[in-house]
Amino acid sequence: LHPQMKCTRCKALASFQFPFHNLKLCEDCLDIFFQKHVAKTIKKYQMLKTGEKIMLGVSGGKDSLVAWKVLHDLGYTPVGVHFDLKLGEFSERSVTACQNMAQRFGYELRVYDLNAMLGVTVQEIAWANRRPYCAVCGGIKRYYFNMLCKKEGFDCVATGHNLDDESARLLGNMMRGNQRYMVKQWPLTPASEDGFFSKKIKPLFLITEAEIKAYAKVHGLEVLGEICPKSKGATSPHYKAAMNLMEQHMPGTRRSFMMQFLGEKDGPPQAERLKSYCGSCGYPTFIEKCSHCLLLDRTKRWLQEKNIQTLAGQDQSS
Ligand SMILES: [Zn+2]
Ligand SMILES: [Zn+2]
Repeated sequence: LHPQMKCTRCKALASFQFPFHNLKLCEDCLDIFFQKHVAKTIKKYQMLKTGEKIMLGVSGGKDSLVAWKVLHDLGYTPVGVHFDLKLGEFSERSVTACQNMAQRFGYELRVYDLNAMLGVTVQEIAWANRRPYCAVCGGIKRYYFNMLCKKEGFDCVATGHNLDDESARLLGNMMRGNQRYMVKQWPLTPASEDGFFSKKIKPLFLITEAEIKAYAKVHGLEVLGEICPKSKGATSPHYKAAMNLMEQHMPGTRRSFMMQFLGEKDGPPQAERLKSYCGSCGYPTFIEKCSHCLLLDRTKRWLQEKNIQTLAGQDQSS
């Protein structure tokens, strides 16, 4: 950043430069620009109606905390929901980041002990079912977001996914020829008729990580900078690195890649239509039990066979 660089909007000294927008911005203008950009995205993709109750997944990282603030500043009142995975200090710092944010701005936060809700730990489920931790964690969180959204009377679940994540995911799906996931890739997923699958929205999906970092800095948000200790070895960082390289040489690639893909589609994916329900928990499923309940059954059997006590409800760092 050149020290004499001027803000494109107001000619004050600029603090940030975004080559992909061909913009230089001072702190005040960054805030205005950011808000407008999110407001426009919400409107364009018809994500929210006035008065809708939003449940926002908050991890304590920059994306979700920034989403929390900007949605509030735009006049919405999203309630932050954090799933505490009890993974030692990482989880403690995640909870603290969410709590500090809630306290500082007076936002509502609800923290859930995921393992206690399950009665077994996510790690035990992963071991018993021979599945990667991240896949289990993601699936279980989705299940509880849907359940809580319906049970607690919310209208949608919002997440802080940004353009860097979403474009890398799209690239990955394309390279693997993953049609099923590409059909679903849209910033809004409608709710199912029975209300079991909640509406999902990604209001930051056109905002880059660089803009999110700048926004967090302007507002002095104390975001957690570390990634989950269980997420090592995931393949997405390679797609992200590939997108970074292209963006570096051709600013705006991420955005045009995403817009081109969405432009070829008619609109949001169809709402899920599952007409049978899990015999144990009532959740929609193709077979007699939902995958959440099947995973739990297998885990309980596994614990019994191995004659071990679950660590659910305890800290698992030791
Ligand atoms: Zn300015
Ligand atoms: Zn079930």
